[in-house]
Amino acid sequence: MGTVDVIIVGAGTAGLGALREVRKRTESFIIINDGPWGTMCARVGCMPSKALIEAAGEFHRRLVFPELGLSGGEGLRVDTGAVLARVRKVRDGFVSETRELTDQLGERAISGRARLRGPGQVEVGGRVLEARSIVLATGSRPTVPEAWRPFADRLLTTDSLFEERGLPSRLAVVGLGPVGLEMAQALARLGVQVTAFHAAQTIGGLSAGPVNDAALELLRHELTVHLGHEAQLTAARLPAAGSEGANGEGLRVTAGAAGVVIERALVALGRTPNVQGLGLETLGVPLDEKGLPEVDRTTLQVAGLPIFLAGDANAEVPLQHEAADDGHISGLNAVASSVRRFARRTPLSIVFTDPNLAQVGQRFDARAPDRTVVGEARFADQGRSRMMLRNAGLLRLCADREDGALTGAELFAPEGEHLAHWLALAIHRRSTVFDLLRAPFYHPTVEEGLRTALVEIAKQLPRLSGDGAFPLLSTPGA
Ligand SMILES: Cc1cc2nc3c(=O)[nH]c(=O)nc-3n(C[C@H](O)[C@H](O)[C@H](O)COP(=O)(O)OP(=O)(O)OC[C@H]3O[C@@H](n4cnc5c(N)ncnc54)[C@H](O)[C@@H]3O)c2cc1C
Repeated sequence: MGTVDVIIVGAGTAGLGALREVRKRTESFIIINDGPWGTMCARVGCMPSKALIEAAGEFHRRLVFPELGLSGGEGLRVDTGAVLARVRKVRDGFVSETRELTDQLGERAISGRARLRGPGQVEVGGRVLEARSIVLATGSRPTVPEAWRPFADRLLTTDSLFEERGLPSRLAVVGLGPVGLEMAQALARLGVQVTAFHAAQTIGGLSAGPVNDAALELLRHELTVHLGHEAQLTAARLPAAGSEGANGEGLRVTAGAAGVVIERALVALGRTPNVQGLGLETLGVPLDEKGLPEVDRTTLQVAGLPIFLAGDANAEVPLQHEAADDGHISGLNAVASSVRRFARRTPLSIVFTDPNLAQVGQRFDARAPDRTVVGEARFADQGRSRMMLRNAGLLRLCADREDGALTGAELFAPEGEHLAHWLALAIHRRSTVFDLLRAPFYHPTVEEGLRTALVEIAKQLPRLSGDGAFPLLSTPGA
């Protein structure tokens, strides 16, 4: 095989995004993937985790049945083996859909671990392949401290959790970032006694402040949470040896003064980009302490070379829609005669806890307090949320003091995933709170909570409010 136009390394969301753009422009490409085909999102990420959350959420609703006048909820049981089997069944469907694109590529899809040999060469399975451009989209893997390797048989990550045939009665969750938080709540709702450890005081990627506090307060009704200390793991005998765990062997998880002896722990300490052994050092460009080169997020190019680093592998924004965008940008640039710069989307991240957590636009901890005004809405008293018995949470909006443009939002709210999209569109369009207050808010909806926060901001900006919410059409008689 001679020199091809593009080699794509990694067939995840980013690699497939790149492939779609490359294929529209050339047939001269190769895609190489190590391990199973089908994206991480479909196999062990977004999709199985949300399928698990779905079962957990439905089961949890039985607790409000008496209040709604429904009886018999106390007789409901969870069959964790069946829940996990359904998660895998749904997952398998999504995986086969993501494989459709690569299954038809014949010898242009190569299985194996690729390694760069320089800016235009990739080695895989003992062969050296040459390309005019290379897209590296090698993803990430769960971060597990080296010192914890001896306990590997007692540790779970999201790579292994969904393969389990049942759930333990007790579990430690180490790390309450977005993934740990989603899993900790879902597992607790499925009947697992969860003890969670998190080194920071903020959870789910939130900034310090009232939304984080509200989320923590609610979460503590469902699981035990220890914050502020890094967790340490040591081997321990289980109190009732042999009842569960491997031959009575368990783990002691300690953090500050807190500790628990447990059969197994789910490690959710974030993800490490898959760049070790990828040969980035052969590019002759500086690498940071994570082994990553500098990447321009608008082009995905590495140091002016015909090399593009996309998706979780570049450690910029490890989210599925950003990985897909990275793929498209790098795919387009890999075949372009000159590299083009692309605008990136308004930041949006959602954690599928109940209520949903979300961050939109500028982070609250990055805002300049003297240039912004904040409005908030609490959902404890919000009409529709009360009807649904989902009346908990807090939403905070931030707007520019000069022109009233919405700049950021942080929320822990019922239907938060939908509110977050509405807010992302508003921020993307640079809508002001006054523009937004002119939009209709149907009654009774959760969106009315959003209006409460917008009104609170509008009241703080009387100079900009004009004649109120209604645009003036004309002056009668004029
Ligand atoms: C539990 C969990 C839940 C998540 N939920 C969400 C969510 O709800 N919403 C959201 O937006 N994001 C979510 N994410 C994040 C999202 O899944 C990722 O951001 C996204 O899937 C990353 O895609 P990628 O293409 O960069 O990597 P991947 O899909 O991991 O693809 C990388 C591929 O490259 C291969 N590879 C690695 N090294 C080599 C090599 N040297 N040679 C050849 N191939 C190699 C890998 O085996 C893999 O197949 C979640 C993640 C997890 C873990």
